[in-house]
Amino acid sequence: MDRAICPPLILVTMLLKDKVTIITGATRGIGKAIAVRFAQEGSHIAFCGRSRGEQMTAVENELQALGVKAKGYVADVSNLESCQQFVAQVLEDFGHLDCLINNAGITDDAAIKRMTEAQWDNVLNNDLKSVFFMTKSVQPAMWKQGFGSIVNISSVVGIGGNLNQANYAAAKAGIIGFTKTAVKEMGARNIRINVVAPGFIMTEMTGEIPEQMKQYWQTRIPLRRPGTPNEVANACLYYASELGSYNTGDVMHLCGGMEDA
Ligand code: NAD
Repeated sequence: MDRAICPPLILVTMLLKDKVTIITGATRGIGKAIAVRFAQEGSHIAFCGRSRGEQMTAVENELQALGVKAKGYVADVSNLESCQQFVAQVLEDFGHLDCLINNAGITDDAAIKRMTEAQWDNVLNNDLKSVFFMTKSVQPAMWKQGFGSIVNISSVVGIGGNLNQANYAAAKAGIIGFTKTAVKEMGARNIRINVVAPGFIMTEMTGEIPEQMKQYWQTRIPLRRPGTPNEVANACLYYASELGSYNTGDVMHLCGGMEDA
């Protein structure tokens, strides 16, 4: 084995000790699971939600109990100025940043013939423009320090499409094209960017799906169960940490083998 190419495995107890991770939309669901998983691995966590309520305080408390610094910020990731202020405040509070997880997202479903322009814009702004805005906001700090890891949460819907979700599918597919380009622009500065595309994950967002629809989706999943937010968090952990040090531009399908994904 060539040691220059494959360095010896260093066993560490914590994969993200003293790193600083920004997570968008971590007041609940997948974002919250990522925050908890990363904190368990020693990362300090700066996360945002659209408002400061009980949920944000509860997440802060849960993370701090794991022994890391954790702070929730009110930020709207569909707004560039808000993203830039959020990142500037994190840099002031935490001193530096290592990872960004672009997780925040929404759905606003309708068949194309019924979908309004407002529904289209709502989803594109929250799910795609947000990834551009947050990446643009962290890039100067990552570029200057010569390292950084970004994980963008897409969806299998962005790969295979889904009924009544043309806006969501377009946004999630757009994240993949955006990522492939960002990889080419930032790789030389050791900034890695990867996509995790989950399938059917049990969260508040999917909790709103009618029972009949859930059964339909589950018949298309060879593992015969939905995924958990923690399983998405583990995939993000791989890419954000040194475990994924030679991965950039990947699109991980995290969907239990779902058809068309
Ligand atoms: P969720 O609705 O439970 O959580 C979304 C979070 O994003 C919330 O905290 C919300 O406040 C935040 N958010 C939304 N818009 C925001 C904005 N403009 N500014 C700041 N925060 C904002 O959703 P989830 O199921 O946990 O999904 C998280 C991500 O995973 C989303 O991008 C979603 O598209 C993606 N995803 C989810 C599934 C699934 O099955 N749940 C599957 C594939 C992809």
